[in-house]
Amino acid sequence: MAPTLRVCSLYPELMNIYADRGNIAVLRARCQWRGLGFELAAASLGDAVDPTAHDLFYMGGGQDRDQALVARDMSENKRDGLHEAAARGAVVLAVCGGYQLLGHYYQTAEGERFPGIGLIDVRTEAGKKRFIGDVVVDTTLEDLKPTTLVGFENHSGRTFLGAGARALGRVRVGSGNNGGDGTEGCVQGGVVGTYLHGSLLPKNPHLADYLIRRALSRRGMAELAPLDDSIELAAHAKILERAQPRAGER
Ligand code: GLN
Repeated sequence: MAPTLRVCSLYPELMNIYADRGNIAVLRARCQWRGLGFELAAASLGDAVDPTAHDLFYMGGGQDRDQALVARDMSENKRDGLHEAAARGAVVLAVCGGYQLLGHYYQTAEGERFPGIGLIDVRTEAGKKRFIGDVVVDTTLEDLKPTTLVGFENHSGRTFLGAGARALGRVRVGSGNNGGDGTEGCVQGGVVGTYLHGSLLPKNPHLADYLIRRALSRRGMAELAPLDDSIELAAHAKILERAQPRAGER
């Protein structure tokens, strides 16, 4: 029988800036088009996470106010479950505010520090200038075709990678992790963090499949049936064409 991708959306009502929930719609559609099952659960404030019940966890972006609520809840109710799930091979995708909270901490421009859950070796501190605009990334993620990722960033956080995390890629256009070292996002085991909104997955179907494949591989599903991605890749190509380096940025 075809396997079912079991997805858990973390704080869907709080961490959903710029329609980040569109990423879930893509995961669902790409499973259904292939005749795979798809199950969606949610874990919000007060809920614990069952480390054995999901193949893929997803967390979108959010503003500082929502991040403060979420940061406290994550350390109280989800830290252990998410660490165990990742250690068992679950995949985690986190965007922007969600990405920041998977690291060691997020510090606001006012100097208030929200603890992260330390699932990835990154730390984030807000700067004065916001990084806003199109982003093009050359990714080093295995076997991704095309090798670019496109999206839209809007953040004041500067994220710095520690030795345990590697970059999702290097920015060709845009600021990425911190506007300084040329990196964007992070990969650590099955955890992928990124600043790319867009939503991310509709214009990057190859990344969606990377995540689905990895999440299902531990259940014996090695290959995914190919899909016709001509519309998605035309949208991807449009951003490659539109994205222009911004003044003062790399
Ligand atoms: N508060 C974070 C920042 O601005 C996250 C914003 C977001 O998720 N878009 O850096």
